[in-house]
Amino acid sequence: MRKNIVAGNWKMNKDVIEAQQLMFQLLSYKKENATNCEVWIAPPALYLMMAKDVFEFDEIGVFSQDMSEHESGAFTGEISADMLKSIAATGSIIGHSERRLYHGETDSHCNRKIKLALDKGLTPIYCNGETLEQRKTGQHLEVVKNQIEVALFTLSAEEIKKVVIAYEPVWAIGTGETASPEQAQEIHAHIRSLIADKYGKEVADEISILYGGSVKPDNAKEIFSQPDIDGGLIGGAALKVEDFSKIIEGFN
Ligand code: PGA
Repeated sequence: MRKNIVAGNWKMNKDVIEAQQLMFQLLSYKKENATNCEVWIAPPALYLMMAKDVFEFDEIGVFSQDMSEHESGAFTGEISADMLKSIAATGSIIGHSERRLYHGETDSHCNRKIKLALDKGLTPIYCNGETLEQRKTGQHLEVVKNQIEVALFTLSAEEIKKVVIAYEPVWAIGTGETASPEQAQEIHAHIRSLIADKYGKEVADEISILYGGSVKPDNAKEIFSQPDIDGGLIGGAALKVEDFSKIIEGFN
């Protein structure tokens, strides 16, 4: 059985006091409520160690929002897979559309980062998804196929099973516009069948595929109820415990 996951991507939000407050609120929520999914957060890199202290019994998985494709050395501003491993982080988001847009990340960069994360025992959350232009011109299935093939298909079956995929249509991120549950399901099923064609159905059935893009308390349940949607990668609505917890309860 594949995992259900709700992951919060905090992006570049919150000062240290606010970040600590939200972590403690999430910890109390998690202690007081049985959840039917794993709960992960990706705070800014500066707060990762604090998160590991707050969630000392791994109540909530701690992810970075990105990691370097290089092992170590003269790469100013970057954080490495070994550093993440050394603080016992769970993994890293890789290939978020904002990294692709503002930092020139490509599927090949993602491929190297994913391989490195897996080699170091970290869980990569691989983000992919089409732009509005690509959807309007009917290229979305092809675009996603290419993103999956280039970033993932050099992995072995054992490796790809450890990857979490997040389908995030760029036009739905932070826009308030959500893909309909049917639109999201179509792409999730497409991704799973691409993996099944390459690695077999058994492998494909083990991989959690999350949906991201304006998931909110009022649409989470319907999105999560789709057969190939195993949870969500949440941006804006992960910044308040009230909203994030209601999204988690989409699995109840
Ligand atoms: P959003 O962001 O929920 O604010 O649309 C999702 C994401 O970028 O991961």
